[in-house]
Amino acid sequence: MKVEILGSASPDDGGQFLISYLCNDQVAIDAGCLGLLTPVSRQLAVNHVFLSHSHIDHTGSLPIFLDNIFAPGPDCVQIHGIPDTLDSVRGDLFNDRLWPDFVRLSQPTNRFLELLPLEVERPVVADGLTVLPVELRHVVPTVGFIVSDANATVAFVSDTLPSDRIWELLRAVKNLKAVFLEASFPNSMDWLAEASAHLTPRTFASELKKLNREVDVIAVHLKPRYRQTLIQELTELKLPRVSVGEIGRVYHF
Ligand SMILES: [Zn+2]
Ligand SMILES: [Zn+2]
Repeated sequence: MKVEILGSASPDDGGQFLISYLCNDQVAIDAGCLGLLTPVSRQLAVNHVFLSHSHIDHTGSLPIFLDNIFAPGPDCVQIHGIPDTLDSVRGDLFNDRLWPDFVRLSQPTNRFLELLPLEVERPVVADGLTVLPVELRHVVPTVGFIVSDANATVAFVSDTLPSDRIWELLRAVKNLKAVFLEASFPNSMDWLAEASAHLTPRTFASELKKLNREVDVIAVHLKPRYRQTLIQELTELKLPRVSVGEIGRVYHF
């Protein structure tokens, strides 16, 4: 499986301002910066978008993405999210105020998007990948994703406070190759991490103890303002399989 961390800054300075990952070029996890991906032919290759939650760093470029790829006809991209996320997409993004209501404008013969509700822990098959949404603990209902093909499984665990269920499931996955795990705020800002329902390097490490397996762990969702401090604190954990996510890099699992 190929996983690319999409970039959102130009020139790229390593900061992950907006959140999107691309699996096998066709399945996107979150749409924070999917609509900024160039050349646009790469956006046209995306058939499925799985949204973890409604926050704008994960959904912000969804309207731009749909605008970029729309062509008249019945075929369209499928947007998957839990009902709370889809409610926000309908009511907050596509409400004619922030952006034209692409949901209302979608007719059977000319469709901008199809919204498909996800059920927690019910897998969805998309372009050869099986995507399992698992409940996380954030300020709005949020899911992490366990994504599998025939040879590898990769997990996206963001945005969240410490949680248990996803680790319970991941402990049992046979081909688990990597976990993309958030580390948003430095340890000194644990009060803000707690209030905004995120992890610090300290809670990042305690989450990995629950996993209790030797797999590659890629730290993501580092708040750009604190990136250097976060890298230092993550390095000080001295966990051999942990690395910091590189924007624009294509990971092969
Ligand atoms: Zn969030
Ligand atoms: Zn976020």
